[in-house]
Amino acid sequence: MPAPPTPTVPAPAPAPAPVPSTLRRRLRGLPFILIHVAAVVGACLVTPTWEAVGLGVALYVVRMFGITGAYHRYFAHRAYKTSRWFQFVLAWIGCSAMQKGPLWWAVHHRHHHKYSDQEEDPHSPIVRSIWWAHVGWVTSGLFRRPNYQDIKDFTKYPELRLMNKLYWGPGLILAVLCYWWMGLAGLVWGFLVSTVCLYHGTFLINSACHLWGTRRYETTDQSKNLWWAAILTLGEGWHNNHHHYQSCARQGFMWWEVDVSYYIIRLLAAAGLVWDVREPTARALAAKRAAGPAA
Ligand SMILES: [Zn+2]
Ligand SMILES: [Zn+2]
Repeated sequence: MPAPPTPTVPAPAPAPAPVPSTLRRRLRGLPFILIHVAAVVGACLVTPTWEAVGLGVALYVVRMFGITGAYHRYFAHRAYKTSRWFQFVLAWIGCSAMQKGPLWWAVHHRHHHKYSDQEEDPHSPIVRSIWWAHVGWVTSGLFRRPNYQDIKDFTKYPELRLMNKLYWGPGLILAVLCYWWMGLAGLVWGFLVSTVCLYHGTFLINSACHLWGTRRYETTDQSKNLWWAAILTLGEGWHNNHHHYQSCARQGFMWWEVDVSYYIIRLLAAAGLVWDVREPTARALAAKRAAGPAA
């Protein structure tokens, strides 16, 4: 006669992460607010020069690529391959945009795709509000310690772990260099104003691109293609295309869908710095179209 099955004791649920007091939590969002205050006050007090504004525009473009081409398409989605030293360079450029470390950024973005427009999505304007999706989640102080298990493919590199911890380093060095080169105008217009514009350019993808625009593909979320956000973010505004086929390096699927980050990745590939650049497959391009006006 077989032995009766041993009753199994359910494993205890993992203890929930302690939620810090509201004040302590709120203080975590303070540096982000202070950069805004410094940029606005500085812009009112310091006269812009053509050189400093030109520096700000150049740093916007380079650092936007650091977010879109490096943090997003490389670290979050592995849309192309590169060497270890160039991976570090990409992480450094992304870090200088002052949007925290590469592992922190990429792991939250992976969660965004995993739970798009569901309760667990860190920044859904559908589940919460446009304010939450744009800046609220950043200033809430609730997302300081993500589950790094979901980005083990990169946590194995000690130099990336270090940069993720000292994420303010590259931005601080850049700010000092701007001041050293062009004085206060360089610091304010070259660095601070450019950094604030970068914040809101990037954040448009989380807020506006899940609310406004057109949907070409049927996806399980509310992602949209928004042309003007694509211009401001070097191609990230083709967000419905991206949610439809996340792992490719290209987000503008049509010739007229300007995707500057993709062009830069192609240039880097031509120079031999990156390789195995993933393209959308013919099947993905021809997938089921979303109902509604054609896009
Ligand atoms: Zn999205
Ligand atoms: Zn993505």
